[in-house]
Amino acid sequence: MNCTNCSREYKFTKVEYICPHCGSFLWFKTNIQSYRRNFSKSLNTFWDFYFTFPQIEKDFLVSLDKREGGTPCKESEKIGQILGLKNLFFKDETLNPTNSFKDRPAALLISHARSWEYDKVVCASNGNQGASIAAYASLEGIECVNIIPSEIDIGKRAQMIAYNSEIIVDGELIDDAIKLALDSKYKEYYQCTTEYNPLTIEAQKTIGFEIYQQIGLPDWIVIPMGSGELLVSLWKSYNELKEANIIQKVPKLIGVQSQISAPIVDGFLHKKHKIREEKEILKSLALGIFVKNPAYKDLAIKFIKESNGTSLAVPENLILNSIDELIRNEGIFAEPASALTLAAVQILNQQELFDSSEKIVCLITGSGLKAPYVLEALSSRTKTAGMGNLLSTKLKILTQISLAGKKGIYGTKIKDMLGSISVAAVYQHLKELEEKKLISREKSGKNVYYTIMDSGKKVLEALETLINLF
Ligand SMILES: [Zn+2]
Repeated sequence: MNCTNCSREYKFTKVEYICPHCGSFLWFKTNIQSYRRNFSKSLNTFWDFYFTFPQIEKDFLVSLDKREGGTPCKESEKIGQILGLKNLFFKDETLNPTNSFKDRPAALLISHARSWEYDKVVCASNGNQGASIAAYASLEGIECVNIIPSEIDIGKRAQMIAYNSEIIVDGELIDDAIKLALDSKYKEYYQCTTEYNPLTIEAQKTIGFEIYQQIGLPDWIVIPMGSGELLVSLWKSYNELKEANIIQKVPKLIGVQSQISAPIVDGFLHKKHKIREEKEILKSLALGIFVKNPAYKDLAIKFIKESNGTSLAVPENLILNSIDELIRNEGIFAEPASALTLAAVQILNQQELFDSSEKIVCLITGSGLKAPYVLEALSSRTKTAGMGNLLSTKLKILTQISLAGKKGIYGTKIKDMLGSISVAAVYQHLKELEEKKLISREKSGKNVYYTIMDSGKKVLEALETLINLF
């Protein structure tokens, strides 16, 4: 292994993650020669990349019928067309055995725990990692302790229980649980907490390899960030391919978080990070990615910069809308954290960050079926139709105008963004919003541009509060 900061090298004799010399993260040193020898066109699933993993004898490998990874990188059917993006893709990790990308690290970590003859594992997580670890440990008859915060998606908690792991609840956010996993009472346990086991990054690198094999080198990859380790994994995968001379440049990485709490994004933008009350954070839909102090924050920021990428905090009120669009237009039922990636593409597309032919990949990390808020919001729709569904067309239009900022946006562009609505209907809504003095318009060239007024912003904020309340 070597240190991500001082480059000192260490033997991999125990699960270690911090450089004893400088305190930075350790990760695995890659055998680039093996990449040159083994990388070929025929590789396309998780276990095909066995040669990239730190050595674990084949006898010890644990798998759910080799169904880890090999997930589709699906070309957008409709959203790309609506946004004017010719090469928009979704890497659909919901199709892993327990419905999230975390089956990749779980398979590798439990294989490794077996090879080192552990019969107990411990994992602190706020959802997917814990659910996957529980599944793979249960498969092997390994005792599993999951340490979780009190508020996690109920579907993920149910998976942990169903797979027979012991649940210990500690704190409201994940940060306390992570600390507890290092307690001396777990020193006989194999450590499966994402932040403390660098094999997690090695396993998640396969997502980057698969995308490259499936669609060639992307220009942009959009990645939800909790601890930031997924973005670090993607950067490492492409950086290694570059070192091996298989590719010539690393894709630009876009790291996204929810606006409710975005410590990594704020760090990237040099913005003062406002620490919110826990009860406020817990209202977010994207519970699975909330970490107060993300372990990989500094590395994630460094790699976003090195990749020439960018970072963005997405307004909470766009999450349900994006989940909806992914279901209806692409047939993918994504968890809120993953829906952030689509919302980010929409925002950045309006800011004209992308060329229309650039290859953009959104990482869809896990399934929406695990998140009760989403299920409630979707299944109570018919009931709220009377009061005007919170995601009504007017709100969508107002949101698009707000996103366009001072520059404004013109009517037909709004129509393109919304998809299935007529131009006439868009103009009728615009007229009504204007009459209510929520938006204003100005002619510039051959187009009329609409911008949001202060009163319009207040209405949007109020609706956001309402959505958070219920
Ligand atoms: Zn060091």
